[in-house]
Amino acid sequence: MPAKPEIKKVPRATFLGRAIAGNIGALTLGVKYFFDPNRITLLYPHEYIKLKQGYRGYIVLIFDKCISCASCARICPARAMKMVSVNVKDKKLNKVMKKKYPVINYNRCIFCGLCVDVCPTEALYHVPYHDLVYLNMNDMILNLEQFQEQPEFVTSKEGVPVTYVFDEKRGLVKVRADESVKQEGQIGQASGGENK
Ligand code: SF4
Ligand code: SF4
Repeated sequence: MPAKPEIKKVPRATFLGRAIAGNIGALTLGVKYFFDPNRITLLYPHEYIKLKQGYRGYIVLIFDKCISCASCARICPARAMKMVSVNVKDKKLNKVMKKKYPVINYNRCIFCGLCVDVCPTEALYHVPYHDLVYLNMNDMILNLEQFQEQPEFVTSKEGVPVTYVFDEKRGLVKVRADESVKQEGQIGQASGGENK
């Protein structure tokens, strides 16, 4: 006959005991974050998020590379890009001709990047810039000259570039952008990743 298993009685915490333990835990956490806060709120514009290269932000046209194929305007799902006729001097024929070039309407653009991807001559490129501010709706419809200008990085003049990295103990942590590469490397090393 098999031996009867011994059943040990585990003392259960009372409701009062659980309540006290929960409150002590909450107080301990509060004290910990009082001395070692982990504030991730972005103090804009004193801080701004440093966007990575390849971020699909503001779009700029390189006029000399454009061959007026209109692929960008045709593929645009939001109908934000359209072709406009302008008089340009053809250097080979030495005469003024009407040609079409793209312009953009930021009231409609959804920053999908299809226009940049489809351009066969790389005449369009994104700028990793997100903070677009206009005083009225009409200013968001760029003309051909404006479409060739890089935006002014206003926040980068006074603000500190920051980024967010994941820390195993503290979760999401806000760090200066120039420190993030170092931190990402440390996290990669700790987890045996490729960042060695
Ligand atoms: S990013 Fe997308 S929505 Fe914006 S202009 Fe290009 S194709 Fe159109
Ligand atoms: S796809 Fe490129 S080359 Fe063609 S019209 Fe647009 S910007 Fe110009």
